[in-house]
Amino acid sequence: MSAAAIPNEPAITVELPTLSLRELWPWILFSILIALLAVYFVGAEQGATSVFSGTAVHEWVHDARHLLGFPCH
Ligand SMILES: [Zn+2]
Repeated sequence: MSAAAIPNEPAITVELPTLSLRELWPWILFSILIALLAVYFVGAEQGATSVFSGTAVHEWVHDARHLLGFPCH
């Protein structure tokens, strides 16, 4: 439906911002890094590969580990 079909209704124009890859690449890199960290802590932060000693991180992400199908116990 065009805006001209409704009388006395102001026309609404929406302009989408244009983003260049040069502006986006730091955010893409940051997002990939955060995603890799999340996958590491959910999937591999346990036992010999653990960064932090103890089981605090493992217990904190335990439900996510089971939800995503990583082997646990
Ligand atoms: Zn488990």
